[in-house]
Amino acid sequence: ESPALQYHRVILKLSGESLADAGGRGISSEESGQIAKQIAQAHKSGCQIAIVIGGGNILRGAQFSGSNSLVQEATAHSMGMLATVINSLAMQDTLERIGLQTRVMSAVPIEKFAETFIRRRAIRHLEKGRIVILAAGIGNPFVTTDTAAAQRALELDADVILKATRVDGVYSEDPEKNPHAVLYDSLSYEDVIRKNLKVMDATAIALCHEHSKPILVFNFKKDGNIVKAISGDTVGTWIGK
Ligand code: UDP
Repeated sequence: ESPALQYHRVILKLSGESLADAGGRGISSEESGQIAKQIAQAHKSGCQIAIVIGGGNILRGAQFSGSNSLVQEATAHSMGMLATVINSLAMQDTLERIGLQTRVMSAVPIEKFAETFIRRRAIRHLEKGRIVILAAGIGNPFVTTDTAAAQRALELDADVILKATRVDGVYSEDPEKNPHAVLYDSLSYEDVIRKNLKVMDATAIALCHEHSKPILVFNFKKDGNIVKAISGDTVGTWIGK
């Protein structure tokens, strides 16, 4: 049965690691297949879905920030953006395998592999019911795909950013290190900044704060949670005004 439609349009932010086996690297058919199945289920409700995928299962530019790195950090960020393209192509086929229509749109022109991101064209794809997979972040170094999710949520006028994580939401401390960490139901942007909570990177939070774009942080590992998040059911931690 289709869930009730709550949101018109969402940005789903998946980390690169969500495509890998737990603690692993690379791309697992099992993991990405599970995610795709949930996205397909949620898509039936009529919600327009754009996905921003990270590249951390392959590499992150900041890993090359040390002075003894032979690769300059800016170059490494280009490598990180390419990692998101790899993940986006994998997710495209995984989603199409189960009957969804998709388009990969890259912030960096890479025309043999993907369309280039053009805002109005992305909106058109979404209106036609295609899942838009946004690759290469925002196309500039020294930020992460969290910033891309915020930027695209504003440009595409998404109702909410759904940030998929491995834990149940935002905690007072890292719950994987401290079992007594407290899970928040909701937070203001000021809370996130003041308490220095690790939700998304600071640029992303600043953009969302300035434009009052809500963020829902939720656990995508629990079966059915992606559907719940997209349908507007109570799950995770809500960050908004
Ligand atoms: N990146 C970038 N510009 C962007 C988005 C990403 O330079 O607009 C690079 C950056 O080095 C980042 C890497 O791509 O670390 C992979 O993305 P991210 O770390 O966000 O992946 P995730 O942690 O979500 O898997």
